[in-house]
Amino acid sequence: MIRVLVNGALGRMGSEVCKKVYSEADLELVGAVDIKEGTVQLGDGVKVTTDLVAAIEAVKPDVVVDFTRPDVVMGNLRKMLPLGVHAVVGTTGFSDADLQEVDELARKYNTSLLIAPNFALGAVVMMKLACEAAKYFPHVEIIEKHHDNKLDAPSGTALMLADAINEQNNGEYHYVYDRSSVRQKRDPKEIGISSVRGGGIVGDHDVLFCGPEEVVTISHVAQSRGVFADGAVQAALFLDGCEPGYYTMTDMLKGKMQCL
Ligand code: NAD
Repeated sequence: MIRVLVNGALGRMGSEVCKKVYSEADLELVGAVDIKEGTVQLGDGVKVTTDLVAAIEAVKPDVVVDFTRPDVVMGNLRKMLPLGVHAVVGTTGFSDADLQEVDELARKYNTSLLIAPNFALGAVVMMKLACEAAKYFPHVEIIEKHHDNKLDAPSGTALMLADAINEQNNGEYHYVYDRSSVRQKRDPKEIGISSVRGGGIVGDHDVLFCGPEEVVTISHVAQSRGVFADGAVQAALFLDGCEPGYYTMTDMLKGKMQCL
């Protein structure tokens, strides 16, 4: 049985992860933390506490799942990794320097973490298809749509898609987020990234590959947050027995998907 503590447990994603952990036979929900006090309404109710380190020391989880905020997640990891717990992180907003730091921290404290801006299986498939399409259609535009409460833009998934396409093309692209302040033609070596916010959109991504007289569009639509929570639960199971260090969804799915 893998013992799981959820950080950000009262949020949209955290509460969904609590439900999935609670219903998964191989996982046990041993703790819930948030900056707000409250109760997760499962079974007899799981009390939410507000001090992450105290909660980890009290319930000794194997894994902490973090869905909090881009501006606090690095602070959370700097606290939890030295305590030797594994971490599954859905919170977005990591820079390359952040990823390097958490990889070093995990190795130093003999633990592992998996960070994914999008835990949906379809998002990983989309990334692979996009890399293939980019070989033939170099003019790439990404459009992402999310609910009006989302704090960061563009989405971590949009950046993950852009980075994968760029990496495959030897880093030749630069990213353009706003065309309103310049009056010039589109550079062939750019990836345009546009963000739409409104209502209850869970998470839609379109990657457009534009030829002179045709457009190929690869789309992914998350129809509920359950799809992300499922992926996070799979990641908690995956980390058990991994070598120390930082992992991605591609690492997790390698054995299961031939295209990876
Ligand atoms: P949310 O605002 O509904 O929930 C965030 C929760 O974290 C809130 O309850 C808040 O009180 C709590 N929180 C804030 N600071 C905290 C701290 N220092 N310690 C503990 N708890 C803290 O947001 P959400 O929609 O659940 O999204 C959370 C994050 O997950 C965002 O970065 C979002 O982009 C990302 N996200 C990732 C995926 C994925 O598949 N990886 C899917 C959806 C959302």
